[in-house]
Amino acid sequence: MIRLENITKMYPNGSKGVEGLNLHIKKGDFVFIVGSSGSGKSTLIKLLLKELDPTEGEITINNVKTTTLTRNQIPYLRRNLGVVFQDFRLLPNKTVYENVAFAMRVIEAPSRVIRRNVPAVLSLVGLNKKAKSLPNQLSGGEQQRTALARAIVNNPPILICDEPTGNLDPDTAWGIMQLLEDINRRGTTIVMATHARDIVDVMQKRVVTLKQGHIIRDIEKGGYDDEA
Ligand code: ADP
Ligand code: MG
Repeated sequence: MIRLENITKMYPNGSKGVEGLNLHIKKGDFVFIVGSSGSGKSTLIKLLLKELDPTEGEITINNVKTTTLTRNQIPYLRRNLGVVFQDFRLLPNKTVYENVAFAMRVIEAPSRVIRRNVPAVLSLVGLNKKAKSLPNQLSGGEQQRTALARAIVNNPPILICDEPTGNLDPDTAWGIMQLLEDINRRGTTIVMATHARDIVDVMQKRVVTLKQGHIIRDIEKGGYDDEA
C-alpha cells in the first residue's frame, strides 16, 4: 500500500531530513514512526503527503508513484490520505460541522451525502453535541476529535498522523488513541509519528524507529525500545 525505496531528503540549507529509507507498509497496518526530536519523523510524513519531494528515491502509494505525479494529479493522491497534525489546523471561523463538511465540499461530494456522512462521523468521534461549536469553544481533545472526523469523513484508505497527541493531556491522548484503533480495525491503514513512549509501549503495534534520518529498527509488534 505504501512503499519507500531508497528515500533521501536533503533540505536546501544542506541539512539532512532522512537518508536511504526503505519501508513497506501493508494495507491495514498500524505503524508508529518513533524517534527523538530531529530524527526525521515529520520529514517522512511530509514526503508521504507530497508536501515535500525526495532528493532521491521513489515513493509508491496505492500503486501510484507519487514522486512522478504532476501537479494536477496531486488531488487524487490527497483523496487517498487523511491527515491529522499536532496543532489540529481547524478553520477557526467554521463550526465543527462545517469544518468536517468542508473536507467533503472540496471533493465535490453531493449535499445529500454530506448531510448523511458528517453527522455519522461526528457521532463516531463523540461530537454530535458540539456540531455547532466553533473551534475556540472546544477543549484540545475535542478539537483533535474534530480534526480526526475531518480526516476520515471521505473514507480514505490511509490515515497519516504527525504527533496527534502532542498537545493533549494523557487521558485525552488515550481517547484519541482508542479512536485510532477503532478506525484501524475498520480497515484503515494508519501511520503515526510520535515520541509518546507510553502510548507506543501499550499499543503493541509495528514500530519503525528513526535516528538521525535513518531507520535503525523495525519491529512487527512491540514497544518503543524493543530490540528488533
Ligand atoms: P522530527 O519530526 O523527528 O522532530 P524533522 O523531520 O522535523 O524531525 O527533522 C529532521 C531533520 O531535518 C532535523 O535535523 C531538522 O533540523 C531538519 N529539518 C526539518 N525541516 C527542515 C527545514 N524546513 N529546513 C531545513 N532543515 C529541516
Ligand atoms: Mg516532528
